Amino acid sequence: MNLFKTLQVPEAQRYWIRQARVPICFLHGGPKTAVDRDGTTLIDLLVDNERIAAIEPAGAAASADLPAIDLEAHHVWSTLIDMHAHLDKGHIVTRTENPDGSFAGALQSTAEDRSRRWTAEDIKRRMEFGLRCAYVHGVAAIRTHLDSPELNQAQRSWALFREVRAEWVDRILLQAVALAPIDAFRTPYGEELADLVAASGGILGAVTRAVGGVHGRLLNDIDPLLDTLLRLASERGLDVDLHVDESGDPVATALAHVAAAVLRNRFRGSVVCGHCCSLAVQPEEQIRRTLDLCAEAGIAIVTLPTVNLYLQDRSDGRTPRWRGVAPVHEMRHRGIPVAIAGDNCRDPFHAYGDHDMVDTFRQAVRILHLDHPFGDAVAMAGPVPQAIIRAGQLGTIAKGGAARLILFNARTLNELMCRPQSDRLVIDRGRRVSAELPDYCDLDGVS
Ligand SMILES: [Zn+2]
Repeated sequence: MNLFKTLQVPEAQRYWIRQARVPICFLHGGPKTAVDRDGTTLIDLLVDNERIAAIEPAGAAASADLPAIDLEAHHVWSTLIDMHAHLDKGHIVTRTENPDGSFAGALQSTAEDRSRRWTAEDIKRRMEFGLRCAYVHGVAAIRTHLDSPELNQAQRSWALFREVRAEWVDRILLQAVALAPIDAFRTPYGEELADLVAASGGILGAVTRAVGGVHGRLLNDIDPLLDTLLRLASERGLDVDLHVDESGDPVATALAHVAAAVLRNRFRGSVVCGHCCSLAVQPEEQIRRTLDLCAEAGIAIVTLPTVNLYLQDRSDGRTPRWRGVAPVHEMRHRGIPVAIAGDNCRDPFHAYGDHDMVDTFRQAVRILHLDHPFGDAVAMAGPVPQAIIRAGQLGTIAKGGAARLILFNARTLNELMCRPQSDRLVIDRGRRVSAELPDYCDLDGVS
């Protein structure tokens, strides 16, 4: 008997969700007893006036005289957080394909598309398509990077972002990071960009290059560039979010430089480093030293496994030999916060995706071996990014927090992992989300 065929979310302002199986890492308050091997427990949740009013051990609501749904021990999660996206690049894949699927090909084709096609109207249509997908899938907060290679594009994209952020404020919490080459902080543009970010309530970012030597494209002045970036951020009270070492080349060692710079500058804001792939191909002793520095500097890491799997170790006619991901287990063992996020969606950096953090989590488990046991792996898509990006109570199940939940037709994490969960039921502020995924034809004329 398929419970989800008949499940109706009550229309009432106050109702119980009974017998919900919840990963305890989502719970702020409430019982954390009788935890099973999946890290879950059974609870009853009282929804009252868009909020979670009570979290009780299962059975507490059995006699309550209120409307209720009985989930019969099916999974309930908080809506999730995607803390590293590129909403401005999304859905250009069919008009500007990556010629060979490589990182270099992605950079080149995206730059061409951006310079020719990125009007405010074009970005907005694609960004909204992405947000509609994310909302229907049960994503409550997104931090997106915005390509900001020079002032004209940056001003256009950030103005548009501010508009979209306001329009979506009730449905999806939006944050943005300025994405520019680290070399921008060698020029006066670095300061102009920091001013624009500060005026927009954003986060300062950059993408590092491989470090070392004095020849070719290797970066030999990363330390003063990071000092400048952190000084500009510090003066404006900005947090920092960087693309770091998205490479399988062991000479990409920027992560250690970032950690050292944070300590040297006594930077007080939050610092996130995304990707950090090349750390995995460095000697064990170097990995340990770098992670010790990261832990000391309080750096948070976001891993982007689907995009790493797609781009890293790709060369024509040769089968990839590694999965492209950062040493996530080693990071977590040291107590470094590590989040999972979706990164690029249907663009030259990643041809696939649907802004679906449940899909990203399911793939991350397989790519990163986050199972046997699952432990608190689910936290990497909810509570961990919530704490890193300071998303209030989003991404958690908290007494007093908004009733924003995903109900799954699955009683165990194995059942949840094995099917795509297309029949999940998303609740926003106590009400079932009735919107449907946008149709691809909504992008006709754009892509
Ligand atoms: Zn990215």
